[in-house]
Amino acid sequence: MRRLRNIKIVATLGPASNDYDTVRKLHEAGADVFRLNMSHGTHEEIRARHEMIRQIEKDLDSPIAILADLQGPKLRVGTFANGEEELIEGAAFRLDLEPEPGDATRVQLPHPEIFAALEVGSHLLVNDGKIRLRVKSCGLDHADCVVTTGGTISNRKGVNVPDVVLPLAALSDKDRKDLEFAAALGVDWLALSFVQRPEDVEEARALCGGRAAILSKIEKPSAVACFDDILAVSDGIMVARGDLGVELPVQNVPPIQKRLIRKCRAAAKPVIVATQMLESMIDSPMPTRAEVSDVANAIYEGADAIMLSAESAAGSYPVEAVTTMDNIAVEVESDPTYRDVIEASRAAKRVTIADGIVAAAREIAETTDIKTICCFTQTGTTAALVARERPRVPIIAMSPLRGTARRLALTWGVNCVMTGELERFKQAVVNAARAARTLGYAGEEDQILVTAGVPFNQTGTTNILRVAPCDERLIYRTDPE
Ligand code: PGA
Ligand code: MN
Repeated sequence: MRRLRNIKIVATLGPASNDYDTVRKLHEAGADVFRLNMSHGTHEEIRARHEMIRQIEKDLDSPIAILADLQGPKLRVGTFANGEEELIEGAAFRLDLEPEPGDATRVQLPHPEIFAALEVGSHLLVNDGKIRLRVKSCGLDHADCVVTTGGTISNRKGVNVPDVVLPLAALSDKDRKDLEFAAALGVDWLALSFVQRPEDVEEARALCGGRAAILSKIEKPSAVACFDDILAVSDGIMVARGDLGVELPVQNVPPIQKRLIRKCRAAAKPVIVATQMLESMIDSPMPTRAEVSDVANAIYEGADAIMLSAESAAGSYPVEAVTTMDNIAVEVESDPTYRDVIEASRAAKRVTIADGIVAAAREIAETTDIKTICCFTQTGTTAALVARERPRVPIIAMSPLRGTARRLALTWGVNCVMTGELERFKQAVVNAARAARTLGYAGEEDQILVTAGVPFNQTGTTNILRVAPCDERLIYRTDPE
């Protein structure tokens, strides 16, 4: 699907986007990646959504990335007899291990290890910090709290305990089952929630065994503290602002977002900015001006992707939310200031031949009238390096590997095209010219740039940079075998 912007859009699926027509409309409106939230829904529901996306991918002949988001060691309360209760400031409220549905005086918190770690005076934040509880007394199976900020509490709302170091494993039993299920299903990205240290990522990678790329969600103060080490072992990053803004003071989130985006770009690894981007569009067809600014800023900062959560999963205007993001992106990316900012923040550290080739490709394309940079890529690394350069011309990534083409749907500016196995470079150039014309980026009279590694089908061999005509007769006439 040809887009008029470079930044990618991730849309979370849920009850508001559960049928073929809606999901197809989301993709046509601009969603490049679909996120399946493993915190909600049964494996059968996830499987049905996965199949639906693959059907749309086939019907539209357009690679789509699927990201399965593991719940991680996220704490949640149990359920309520009435579905929800109003907690009044100053009232007493008890958390315990009893599975009976809760009421206005108590609810289950099914995590014995938390009760063991709590202390008198600890704070518990419920529902993204909207409700605050302070522990007055606690034992191994309960905590008696006082409500310090009241509000509505409902079934399975999340709980954060920022001032206590929680002795939690990176992957719960549920996560291990979900990881195996999602990897076997064939998702392209696995997102890990509440990563605290690089070992957490390595553990998931070992279980995943190369079946999907691994994306670390940064939502704990400890992950921010050792971010460089986490980035080094991850394939991508999510700035998970929801929990991050509960675990840390909210005003710390914007500077962290900026820093993480820069580091990810320098490492040529995709970064998603997530949560509350168009929150008011859950109930309204029109975003607030502040939300529009927030989306625009993430684009100016150079993120690879922006994400919708409840807006597309449970809101009343899922397609409108995607269209709004798309409109903002088209506008920002045509602003000369955007180019200035992106150019000024280009990381210059270049050590490999591939680094040099992609930098040269951008330089040549921008010096002359080259219409597009086509890169042949096995693992996707060369395409990610081209994207890191943030060239002014479109990027076409061509890969014989479906998994690579799909994964690159998350990377800034990359248009993914499947290609057959190649043996000769001339064939690669012909395929690139065809793709450039089919996507509408170049006409017969134009020139394109082709990067590749020869011999083909070996990773890490990027060694060719060719300026080629888009006219196939000329390619056959001028190119060596
Ligand atoms: P979640 O992650 O929606 O799975 O909680 C994103 C965030 O915390 O911002
Ligand atoms: Mn989160």
